[in-house]
Amino acid sequence: MTRLLISTDLDGTLLNHHDYSAAAAEPMLQKLRSLEVPCVLNTSKTFAELEPLRRRLGHRDAFIVENGAAVCIPSDDPLGVSMTPLPRMGNYRYQSFGPDRTAILALLKKLSGRFRFRGFSDLSVDDLIACTGLDAASATLAMQRQFTEPLIWEDSDDALAEFAETLAGHQLQIQRGGRFVHVMGLCDKAEAMRWIARQYQSLWDEKVIVMALGDGENDIGMLQQADIPVVVRSPAHEPPPVPGRSDVRITEREGPEGWYDAVGEALQRLGL
Ligand SMILES: [Mg+2]
Repeated sequence: MTRLLISTDLDGTLLNHHDYSAAAAEPMLQKLRSLEVPCVLNTSKTFAELEPLRRRLGHRDAFIVENGAAVCIPSDDPLGVSMTPLPRMGNYRYQSFGPDRTAILALLKKLSGRFRFRGFSDLSVDDLIACTGLDAASATLAMQRQFTEPLIWEDSDDALAEFAETLAGHQLQIQRGGRFVHVMGLCDKAEAMRWIARQYQSLWDEKVIVMALGDGENDIGMLQQADIPVVVRSPAHEPPPVPGRSDVRITEREGPEGWYDAVGEALQRLGL
């Protein structure tokens, strides 16, 4: 038998671009729960941001935070129970794939004389609200980071290239996304997805088919490495190309509506 595993982006994919609602996808989330198909959230959001969101969605599976920096597994989940050697964080076991943020901040402090930037650790909640438009509660949760540091880059492009080279010497990288340059370990959504697929493979002892859904540039690696790659259409931009894959499905409908359609089709095709 084969088992299905889903790895999904949140903003613009499972969550509506405009109001962050997942309402249109909720019946399908319920169906996945009844079929015992794990739906792993794979996002740039922090652990602190995911707690209220998972409660709202009734989400009980594992999730991947801060762009692939760590996987968190509920410790009472069958997968979590099999992971007892992993460290605990609240009611979760977690596996991280890069250094802690404190190590990143220590290096950034040393580099702050050479390059001009401001990180989240230099900002107040009000500063973050001013530059992102987040509400106070969301900004507070977004600032509770554990594995990555977003920077507002205030130096030249050449300096950014030199900065990236310096970080590489410390096993760190930058990922550009929206307003910020994210400093993080050598990890990404794709690696974290593959790691959790391997864990399910050994838990189930069955072949695992991985379906990945995303809408943005930072989902491309994850889509390239999935068995079933789905680009969810966005009202904000064109579907990003997924190099090397001619079998990508692009949803007709946008956001959670498209998500609902694509997951429904896959379940039907797999006879689930
Ligand atoms: Mg997205």
